[in-house]
Amino acid sequence: MVNGVECQPPHQVVIVGGGFGGLYAAKALGKVKNVSVTLIDKRNFHLFQPLLYQVATGTVSPADISSPLRSVLSESQNTRVLLGEVSDIDPDGQKVFMGEEVIAYDTLILATGAKHSYFGKDEWEKSAPGLKTVEDAIAMRRQIFSAFEAAEKETDPAKRQALLTFVIVGGGPTGVELAGAIAEIAYQTMRKDFRNIDTGETQVLLLEGLDRVLPPFAPQLSQEAEAALTKLGVTVRTNTLVTNIDNDIVTIKSGEETETIHAKTVLWAAGVKASPLGKIICERTPAECDRAGRVVVEADLSIPGYPNLFVIGDLAHYAHQTGKPLPGVAPVAMQEGQFVASLIKAKLNHKPLPQFKYRDYGSLAVIGQHAAVVDLGFAKLTGAVAWLFWLFVHIYFLIGFENKLVVMLQWLWNYFTRRRGARLITGMDVGVKNPVNQSVEYYQPVDNRTPLNV
Ligand SMILES: Cc1cc2nc3c(=O)[nH]c(=O)nc-3n(C[C@H](O)[C@H](O)[C@H](O)COP(=O)(O)OP(=O)(O)OC[C@H]3O[C@@H](n4cnc5c(N)ncnc54)[C@H](O)[C@@H]3O)c2cc1C
Repeated sequence: MVNGVECQPPHQVVIVGGGFGGLYAAKALGKVKNVSVTLIDKRNFHLFQPLLYQVATGTVSPADISSPLRSVLSESQNTRVLLGEVSDIDPDGQKVFMGEEVIAYDTLILATGAKHSYFGKDEWEKSAPGLKTVEDAIAMRRQIFSAFEAAEKETDPAKRQALLTFVIVGGGPTGVELAGAIAEIAYQTMRKDFRNIDTGETQVLLLEGLDRVLPPFAPQLSQEAEAALTKLGVTVRTNTLVTNIDNDIVTIKSGEETETIHAKTVLWAAGVKASPLGKIICERTPAECDRAGRVVVEADLSIPGYPNLFVIGDLAHYAHQTGKPLPGVAPVAMQEGQFVASLIKAKLNHKPLPQFKYRDYGSLAVIGQHAAVVDLGFAKLTGAVAWLFWLFVHIYFLIGFENKLVVMLQWLWNYFTRRRGARLITGMDVGVKNPVNQSVEYYQPVDNRTPLNV
């Protein structure tokens, strides 16, 4: 009691995951009275995943697209940030576990996202790394630029061609962006940089199982994207399924025909599955998981029977709006995070509860440094106008003023010079004989490295 007024302890909101969903929820709760927020992430930074492919292809550096969670939330006095990996949840006891450490909550928001999926062929991951984390991007960058370095030294023409062949599996936005960027590197950026190879002989293949690239976009934009990729030098193969990836050989099937491609670099951009916490929730509560491991949520994003447990972003399967699950994109996660924050506020203040409705402002994909496609529903943009639109949207949503400035300056510099300043090969021992062979080893601290194939 203070001055005769009963004091309520603050309502403890625990948010697991500082990606788009978790961070936007935390920001929206940042100044709410009588709420105490704990944001837990296994990383100490928020990662702007839509620009990861630019790290993988040497346009920007990892720090340019990452912001320390502590500094993003430093103005929110009611919020603490904890570094740690949540390993388990007790929904009845209202606790989350980080190994031995236990954190109690009144309301829990789970926003741990997704990672890439190989549709049951997990053994392909070794040969065809995907792109989800900063480490993935650095490993991919190492693999791409090491392939050119190894080709420069290779005297056997067949081996050289395999080194200069890049296969990207999956024609969604990430695959299209990677293919366009690699083609630009080979045919423009590095054209004058080598003495023994002509990087113009590089082959960039984009494989898509469906009948067009960018399947979620309007068919007209898929056609535009394919035409722009072809103009850049990418070979686009639609209706093409990968049936095996092994030992630098990709086996593909188009109709009844089977073919093999010799490629030292195979990059995976084909599928995602939800973070393992989804499975834990589905084991501990009546909630169901879909085939991708996402938790099927109620209309207010809570779990059946647990009105204080919310699942948002890539981890959630929300089908109440259209009958189909909302897509795994940043705006969905951001809007869901903001919605759950407003719901918590309304509940605590005994106000009418809001209803969640996702507003789709459109989809964008970039094809190269001067072309993109933008689907706003009511309008469709292509070419340089779309590219400028894409650029401003991404700058706007980058977290942190310094990031915005640095990335914008780098893009302008690259635009006018066609250079890529971050073409560093890192995360390997200096002097390694064939860095391409260690393509799937992840960047690790020096004293904890796996032995290399020297
Ligand atoms: C390469 C790539 C390109 C993309 N491009 C676009 C694009 O152009 N436009 C677009 O809209 N979307 C894009 N997306 C999708 C978009 O990034 C996701 O939809 C969005 O990040 C989902 O947000 P989220 O909060 O659900 O998860 P995430 O942003 O993935 O965040 C999850 C967070 O949880 C943390 N975490 C995970 N497990 C644990 C644990 N057990 N304990 C503690 N912390 C944990 C992670 O460290 C991470 O910080 C892209 C994704 C990728 C991978």
